[in-house]
Amino acid sequence: MSNFLNRLGIEASNPGAASTSGFVDTKGREVPSTDPTTGDVIASVRLCSVDDYDTIVNEAQRVFAEWRMLPAPKRGEILREVGEALREHKTDLGALITREVGKVTSEGEGEVQESVDMADLAVGMSRQLNGLTMHSERASHRMYEQWHPLGVVGIITAFNFPNAVWAWNAMVAAAAGNTMIWKPSLKASLTAIATHRVCDAVFQKHGWGGVLNLVIGDDADVGEAMIRDRRVPLISATGSTRMGRHVGQVVAGRLGRCLLELGGNNAIIVEKSADLDLALRGVAFGAVGTAGQRCTSTRRLFLHRSIAGEFTKRLVAAYERIPIGDPSQSGILMGPLIDEDAVVMYEKAIATIREQGGQILTGGERLDRAGSFVKPTIVKADPSMPICKHETFAPILYVFEYDELNDAIAQQNDVDQGLSSAIFTDSFRSAESFLSHRGSDCGIANVNIGTSGAEIGGAFGGEKDTGGGREAGSDSWKAYMRRQTCTLNWGTDLPLAQGVTFDI
Ligand code: NAD
Repeated sequence: MSNFLNRLGIEASNPGAASTSGFVDTKGREVPSTDPTTGDVIASVRLCSVDDYDTIVNEAQRVFAEWRMLPAPKRGEILREVGEALREHKTDLGALITREVGKVTSEGEGEVQESVDMADLAVGMSRQLNGLTMHSERASHRMYEQWHPLGVVGIITAFNFPNAVWAWNAMVAAAAGNTMIWKPSLKASLTAIATHRVCDAVFQKHGWGGVLNLVIGDDADVGEAMIRDRRVPLISATGSTRMGRHVGQVVAGRLGRCLLELGGNNAIIVEKSADLDLALRGVAFGAVGTAGQRCTSTRRLFLHRSIAGEFTKRLVAAYERIPIGDPSQSGILMGPLIDEDAVVMYEKAIATIREQGGQILTGGERLDRAGSFVKPTIVKADPSMPICKHETFAPILYVFEYDELNDAIAQQNDVDQGLSSAIFTDSFRSAESFLSHRGSDCGIANVNIGTSGAEIGGAFGGEKDTGGGREAGSDSWKAYMRRQTCTLNWGTDLPLAQGVTFDI
């Protein structure tokens, strides 16, 4: 067993690691967590039952009643220490992410850095949960709005950001005065356990066990129990559009709130005026980074016809030089897909591409070695091919040619998803056109930067089938709070609004 696993308290002989803040002794079935690089089992996790979930949510509700009374800046102080704890464990947590989901080392550690950044941001936010004041139309009246915490927040996370997606939610939710229950992906449960332990230890030290809670369980029982639970006023769910559509409908059925961060089908447009060296790097990182398993991965590339031939040739050559292998080794830029199912999905997509007339320029097959490795793939395609409209969570890039920028933008927008988009251009007019209200319809629109690798200071999320949610910076904290509009009368009269009279 590797040292970093021991330091994080993950032992193969300790399958009960799924217990939450130490007060639930889970008895459920064991599920192995597998290293996608080798196919070896790292450790097993014992799943929680619906009864365990029930105990946890009751505790989270009890603690909420007290936690919300702690002044927000004091909550922020605890989050500052959480940031320190994450900094201290950054290398080990990063190594675990590399081991469990196959991210290369710099991306595994980068993900933990994102959580650190979120903790720092939440410290500041804890002093800035500001409401507006309004002028009342009535004399001697004052109007203002204030923001209160919601209660117990349910956090569902995807496998591909097993540490940071939780932190996007958890740091802000905690600063806002909520308690929470995290239900992570079963494909990344060890990272969830380690992350929870590192952060919860800080809360425990300050007597605030039960603010952060972890429940590792099956979607069909624990997942369904959580999304249907009226004691959980907000479900923040990150994952596929298929999952989000279901979760969104169930939560809407009980008039709860949902924050949905779902699939993308992100495109880059490269103009003839673009710095092509810059564009090449932006496209390669966007499409191949994280083995194409980011919600913001570049999946479609629109090249101006005048540069398409040469640019494609250079891109194919760059793809064929990409070092693929054990993601913990230095110099490796692409690791494995998450598991064998993902490889099967990739192979099915390749077969469909061929059926629909796509021309595979490079890649298109799995690597001949142990683990879930595939070759990054470039496809010369037509935007009307139905497969190009789907998100295949793998490194497959569709390349199209265009003549007019407006046509490229229209085709970029002509998919169900609306997460991230980018243009590479040196034309001010093209850049502004892309960013205008008739330009990109995505939640994220970049110029001379690829589609992936967002900073946490901005609000992150997308439109249409991406779910409409916003997380991380800007005013995203409002999703975790309820707004209250207050009107105070300090006069001796009781005037009614809109001039209504009711004299008795
Ligand atoms: P997934 O939809 O298979 O699973 C996501 C999570 O939902 C998992 O934790 C799963 O256990 C849970 N889940 C599924 N059904 C549930 C139910 N009925 N009740 C409660 N929970 C349930 O997605 P995945 O394969 O883990 O992740 C990849 C997907 O996530 C891609 O589509 C990717 O684009 C998307 N993603 C989006 C963002 C974003 O911010 N927009 C970020 C990361 C990943």
